[in-house]
Amino acid sequence: MFEKIISRDVPADIIYEDDEIISFKDINPQAPIHVVINPKKEYCSFDDFSRSSGEKTILAMIRSIAIIADILKLKKGYRIISNIGDFGGQEIPHFHIHILGGKRLGRIVAP
Ligand code: AMP
Repeated sequence: MFEKIISRDVPADIIYEDDEIISFKDINPQAPIHVVINPKKEYCSFDDFSRSSGEKTILAMIRSIAIIADILKLKKGYRIISNIGDFGGQEIPHFHIHILGGKRLGRIVAP
């Protein structure tokens, strides 16, 4: 699914894009502001990304978080999450980081 957004075969509300990454609004937001950030090169999860990605892509992903937080004016704070695999609740097997914000999010709770 996310590769189709990257290739523009599926529409998305894109917040930020550069050579390495793309960020767009989550279709089912879990907070007033909810976007996902994806490397354009495909990794199945953060675990895969952590093991096998190059420094250029790692830097782009990490730097993009503050760039996107500025674009979204998340001055009071926000949360980043990456679900990994079955037990981590990952639905889409293309590595992405969620940014959630726009209200006080409270403690992290596992249902
Ligand atoms: P995860 O469980 O971490 O894999 O998260 C997948 C996320 O992708 C969910 O929050 C979905 O709401 C979101 N999602 C699924 N399809 C789309 C889409 N076409 N555009 C934007 N977000 C999507």
